[in-house]
Order: sequence, then C-alpha cells, then structure tokens
Amino acid sequence: MSRINLKPAATLREPTELVAHGLASAADLPDLEKVAARYAVAVTPDIAALIDPGDPDDPIARQFIPSAEELVAQPGENADPIGDHAHAPVAGIVHRYPDRVLFKLVHVCAVYCRFCFRREMVGPGKATALSSNAYNGALDYIRAHSEIWEVILTGGDPLMLSPRRLGEIMADLAAIDHVKIIRIHTRVPVADPARISAEMVAALKVEGAATWVALHANHARELTRKARAACAAMIDAGIPMVSQSVLLRGVNDNVAALEALMRAFVECRIKPYYLHHGDLAPGTAHLRTTLEHGQQLMRDLRGRVSGLCQPDYVLDIPGGYGKAPVGPSYLSQVNSSPGEGELDPETRYRIVDYCGDVHRYPPKP
Ligand code: SF4
Repeated sequence: MSRINLKPAATLREPTELVAHGLASAADLPDLEKVAARYAVAVTPDIAALIDPGDPDDPIARQFIPSAEELVAQPGENADPIGDHAHAPVAGIVHRYPDRVLFKLVHVCAVYCRFCFRREMVGPGKATALSSNAYNGALDYIRAHSEIWEVILTGGDPLMLSPRRLGEIMADLAAIDHVKIIRIHTRVPVADPARISAEMVAALKVEGAATWVALHANHARELTRKARAACAAMIDAGIPMVSQSVLLRGVNDNVAALEALMRAFVECRIKPYYLHHGDLAPGTAHLRTTLEHGQQLMRDLRGRVSGLCQPDYVLDIPGGYGKAPVGPSYLSQVNSSPGEGELDPETRYRIVDYCGDVHRYPPKP
C-alpha cells in the first residue's frame, strides 16, 4: 500500500487514538492499553504523517507505536540500564565522567521511543520536573566542581522547555566560569520541528559558552524537509550539530538503512557521532540486535561511505561504568593468530582495508 498521510491535528497519546488513526490494530488494543499504563506513549502529527499504516514493518512505526512485546522483560534488563542512579550526587545531575555532567531538566518528550533507555523515568506520571530548589541545588553542584567543562542537557527532552525558560537556564550555566560547553540532546527537530522557532534558536545562543546540539534520529525518513529546515536554522545561527542514533532491529539494522541515515545527517551538516547499541531497558529485547551484527554493519558501512559519515558504535556498560567503543578492530598482531606459519619479524601486523582484504604492516619489501 502506498504511504497515506494521516496527519492528526494533535499528538496522539492514547492507544484508542492510534487505532482511530489507523496506526494500530483494534485487536491489539487490550495489550496496548497495558503497555501504555506502564510506559508513556506520544506520537506527534509530524511523526504520524511519516508512518505507512499499510506496512506492518514500517521503521518509523516500530520506534513509536507500542507493542505487546514491551510487556515481556528479559533477564538482564534493568529499570536503570546505564546506571544513572549510581552517579547522581544531587537531584537532576548525573556526574559519571570527571569533566562533564548530565543535567536532567525535564521528564517529558515530544514523542516516546519504544526502546528508550530512560523509559522508567520519562513521561507523565514518572519523575516530576525539577523544583526550583532542586534546580538551584544542581547549579550549586556545577559551580562547586571546577572540573566540569561540559554540561549536557538531557531528560526528557530539553527543547520541550519554552524559549524563555531555556534562555534563562543557558544564561545561568554560561555564567559559571568553568562551563565552556553546553550540549543539548534532543529529538524535537524531527518529532516537532515547528518548536525550533527563531525564539528557540536565539535562546540556545549564549555569551560565555559554546552550544552544541545532538540530534537523535534513527532512520533517514525522519529527516524530512521540515526537520532539515529546523536543523539548518540552528546551524546557520552558529550552533554545531552532531547525531546520535540507536541500532534497532527492524529500523536500521541493515547497511542500506544505516548508510542512508548517515548520508542524510552529513547532508544536513550534522556530524554522525554515536551509534548506540540498544540498552538493556525493560521490554526492549525485540528491538535489540547482537553486538556481532552491529560490528559487521560498521565494517560494511566503512566500505560504503567516507569517514565523515562514520559514527562511533558504542555500548553503555550496565551499572554506570560509562560508554565503551565496541566497533570492529582493523588491526591485529600477526603473532596473536594461530596458523600464521613462520613469521617475518619485520611484518608484525595484519590490517584490514575497506573492502575486507587483509594486508601485512609494514609490508614485505
Ligand atoms: S526522546 Fe530520548 S528520552 Fe525521550 S523517549 Fe526518546 S529516547 Fe527516551
């Protein structure tokens, strides 16, 4: 079936609304109600318009339309899969690495991703927004730790704040001498691009610190004309952008989809930054791939696109130990491989080129 534009007038938050707009089946309603009672649901008009209701495997629907599979938690899945709580010295702050903190300002998002690693913490009825006391306590913490060079605004989605409030927060942070970088992680430019108004762009610019914006998108179709215009408005205002994506089964777990996504980012002047391996969030096993498959995709991607289009494939180590790059290695010591026969002591490494062919380094004369 060809794509049907069912663009609703407002964000869809109830399973009955998803059924009414042809985005879920009435037969699934009882299960979807159970999922929605546990995890937030929101599909903005812009995202709804991207979904092809005739395609049971639609990669946009898989990201946002709830499914009964979310009711099944697997061993190892955890409500705090990347260990935020282990590094939360005061409300709103996660201080995992020495020179940077996460500052969680809001607990709401424009859309709710079915694979969200903070799904137990975001959405109406989950954590509450930071009180004014807690906000001041978080600022005091940042002021007191001169090693904090970068503050990463996350949540929830910080661009759900009004431009006025966001501008105040940016000014508070930029007034702290040692804070040089304010990075904002957001899905708003794709989920609700109209929020990126001239006022919002102005609020993001601040004297005394550089603003970076990290855009979360997982499929090239998310980078619509309106989403591209929203990103261009920020970039043209002097705000550099990077990307973050999650490797998701049935969404982008083939090299053609990944290639299209990374090319789309670069065309938008957004540098691919992270490709996250799916976190062990409850009820998300159906969306995760294996690490081996992720590594093969990264090898395949290297054979098809330039370095500009290469993200780092990373895994957040459960327990709060931070990110580790888990991409394939292209270099190995000859001595470490059995069956190599007699070795030339001057030819110590094997290195794999972008076609997958193996070479010795240094080359034999
Ligand atoms: S936008 Fe980010 S925080 Fe919000 S639901 Fe999606 S992954 Fe989670």
